[in-house]
Amino acid sequence: MIDFTGKVALVTGGSRGIGAATVKAIAAAGGSVVIHYGSNKEAAMRVANEVGDENCHTVKCDLSVLAAANALWDDALAWKSRIDVVVNNAGIYCAENRAGPEADWHKVWQRTLQVNLMATADLCRAAINHWRNRKSGGAIVNVASRAAFRGDSPDHWSYAASKGGIISLTKTLARAYSSAGIYTYAVAPGFVLTDMVLEEFERDPGARARVVSEIPYGDMAPASDVANAICFLASGLATHATGQTIDINGASYVR
Ligand code: NAP
Repeated sequence: MIDFTGKVALVTGGSRGIGAATVKAIAAAGGSVVIHYGSNKEAAMRVANEVGDENCHTVKCDLSVLAAANALWDDALAWKSRIDVVVNNAGIYCAENRAGPEADWHKVWQRTLQVNLMATADLCRAAINHWRNRKSGGAIVNVASRAAFRGDSPDHWSYAASKGGIISLTKTLARAYSSAGIYTYAVAPGFVLTDMVLEEFERDPGARARVVSEIPYGDMAPASDVANAICFLASGLATHATGQTIDINGASYVR
């Protein structure tokens, strides 16, 4: 049975979408959760109210700022003086224009790699140092994407590259630290019905039907499917799966 009683989890991007569903699932399984958000305080407070103020602590941190993740870690750790699980979920999906000005191109690449990959690496580093110092184990679940394996659209080179980096980071940490009881996993969602996807559909009204027609399952995944996979991996019920990735994509890309 999945049970987080006595454990503290840090979930980045816990205010909306997959992160919010993960916060709720961990809290429902008895865990205490640090709900991180970037700017949407209202959304974070809604999630906090739902799980109960006594079970959570909210922290604002803009992960597009280099090294900001370290302040997030310090704040999260100070809440209960321990963190047992880190879910690196916060992410952005920005298009870059290959044919546009080089400065804009670099801006999107830098922001995407910073939020999706560097901030994740910083939090993994802080967590592993914490667990090594207190001589205990811990679990990290990194949210990658189907794009890490399949690639993404012609306008999303940096997004796909950032998620590919997440997979190799996850494998490296699993190989390096599983002997110390530190287990690292990834999940790779395909299309999940969240604000990230709804924003894309607003830009391109035909996209929704196109996307769904390419999913053998017949629909996009709900955020709860991804949250449940994250909880299972973080729960410690299958630690020999360290380094592995669970795909959640309705068979739209079977590896
Ligand atoms: P979402 O609904 O857009 O939520 C994104 C979350 O990340 C929000 O909590 C947001 O905080 C936070 N965030 C965004 N930019 C940030 C920044 N600069 N600093 C700090 N926090 C920031 O996204 P989602 O669909 O749930 O995606 C979650 C993860 O799943 C991402 O890593 C994404 O790449 C991955 N994923 C999603 C899909 C999909 O189809 N939805 C597919 C594959 C992978 P605020 O609420 O404060 O803005």
